[in-house]
Amino acid sequence: PSDTGRVLSIQSHTVQGYVGNKSAVFPLQLLGYDVDPINSVQFSNHTGYPTFKGQVLNGEQLWDLIEGLQANDLLFYTHLLTGYIGSVSFLNTILEVINKLRSVNPNLTYVCDPVMGDEGKLYVPEELVQVYREKVVPLASMLTPNQFEAEKLTGLRINSEEDGREACAMLHAAGPSKVVITSITIGGSLLLIGSHQKEKGLKPEQFKILIHKIPAYFTGTGDLMTALLLGWSNKYPDNLDKAAELAVSTLQALLRKTLADYKRAGYDPASSSLEIRLIQSQDEIRNPNVELKAERY
Ligand code: ADP
Ligand code: PLP
Ligand code: ZN
Repeated sequence: PSDTGRVLSIQSHTVQGYVGNKSAVFPLQLLGYDVDPINSVQFSNHTGYPTFKGQVLNGEQLWDLIEGLQANDLLFYTHLLTGYIGSVSFLNTILEVINKLRSVNPNLTYVCDPVMGDEGKLYVPEELVQVYREKVVPLASMLTPNQFEAEKLTGLRINSEEDGREACAMLHAAGPSKVVITSITIGGSLLLIGSHQKEKGLKPEQFKILIHKIPAYFTGTGDLMTALLLGWSNKYPDNLDKAAELAVSTLQALLRKTLADYKRAGYDPASSSLEIRLIQSQDEIRNPNVELKAERY
């Protein structure tokens, strides 16, 4: 294992604000990674605003970029990171990208955030669920669903820690050796559940981190979380709990800063989806102060 790498990150780009590549590239660079972004969409702003405009990349256009890299022998990556993907055809091309990158580097780590929805609502076409379940999850090294996405992928209802642990075990059986359910809402708190199956057939090592829920809705936090989990779990490959502690600690410090800034400017943080203060949190990205500890089961 090495403490850096070269990451191909296929995610959204927004002109203004921080979601997708805009919230993943900068932190990975701060952690020492070379990051090559492919922008799956280019929108004016994230979709939580009243309107947005922009362009969507299709599967053929994605493959063009891969062919351009290949023609110059530039397809060696240590990591592939994918986030929000809006169509089945684009997701199918991602499957071809994974195979191509693994033919160049058989040790490629594929970190998949299976972005499908949140709080009971799908925000991608329903057909995507099956493609994730049957074709994408089996190829992933690490998977970072939220509660809703873990439910969609396993068919389980997740209402407790036990359910979360069972969902992780099911997901390991399907492919990825590392699974982090980034948040489960239980009684007004957030619970992160992490699970590392160090060898096929072995019982996974599992842990939880209890997170105080801030009463506001942020966008881009999931994308940032997955980027940080990639960054730290590559540096601590046998300590997913430590990687998660570091990632959560950055998130909490950044969200506190975001909230304080909005309050100072006179906004009501409960009333809208807030843009994260990513650039202003660079110290907390490089050197997180671990306040929330993982508890092993
Ligand atoms: P997604 O945006 O993909 O649904 P999550 O909601 O699980 O992802 O958010 C990712 C991480 O961001 C969580 O693990 C948590 O650390 C942090 N986070 C997000 N929203 C909040 C919140 N309201 N209060 C505290 N932490 C939050
Ligand atoms: N990509 C785009 C274009 C978005 O508009 C959003 C959310 O609005 C996201 C990705 C995902 O954000 P999150 O990290 O909160 O799941
Ligand atoms: Zn997400």
